[in-house]
Amino acid sequence: MLSDPAAAAWVVAGRPAVNAPTPVAGRCGRCGEDGPTVTVTHIISEKFTNFDAWPFGSRRLCVPCAWAYSRSPASVPAMMITATTVTEHIKGVGLAAVLATGALPHTHAVVLPTSHRRHILATAQWGHLATDGLVTVWDAAAASRLTNLAMVRPAVTAWARARATKSTNGRQIALEIDRVLLREMPPYPLLATQPKQDWPGFLAAWTALQPWRTVAPLWAAAKVLTTPVSAAAAYNGRQTG
Ligand SMILES: [Zn+2]
Repeated sequence: MLSDPAAAAWVVAGRPAVNAPTPVAGRCGRCGEDGPTVTVTHIISEKFTNFDAWPFGSRRLCVPCAWAYSRSPASVPAMMITATTVTEHIKGVGLAAVLATGALPHTHAVVLPTSHRRHILATAQWGHLATDGLVTVWDAAAASRLTNLAMVRPAVTAWARARATKSTNGRQIALEIDRVLLREMPPYPLLATQPKQDWPGFLAAWTALQPWRTVAPLWAAAKVLTTPVSAAAAYNGRQTG
């Protein structure tokens, strides 16, 4: 029985070995599995400070967890994990379409790195979205809020771009879009860009996002999920080129 998504991903990857001395019997400090384990000093940098979050005390890791932690956070893409599949979504592209349809089944887990500096694969849980500093159940309310953000964000983007002057650069526009989206209510001139019959729906979508505005890791994840594909591709280009 596979205990968690990181272990499932390890099996899908072909049960790779980790760069450590031959594992010995023990209990994994992170997931609690009894079985072959390696000492964390072979896997994790001394700078790692999150041992307190491990519920099982020991400074040993089972091989699947060790594998999850031995992957560089910079190289782990956004992923949808099931017991038998791992689907990669570079920059989260394509994930929103799945997550907006409803609650995540208990057979699925999503990993969505935002900074690519944290080990989040090992924190993944079935039915949850794991992102930097947060693992949250993905329920129907979350799916609905994602749909709301996907609806209001293009209006804000278009409005911010229309207001920008020639001297406003792309980063300033992006900051302005975020600043506006974080407001509890949309500015009236923005609302006025929408057809009047759409105002009630627009306002309802806007206010429904309020719980997410106060949870920074969730807001960061939601922004990644609703980034237009063209912008994500441009970002990819900058990263690799
Ligand atoms: Zn483990």
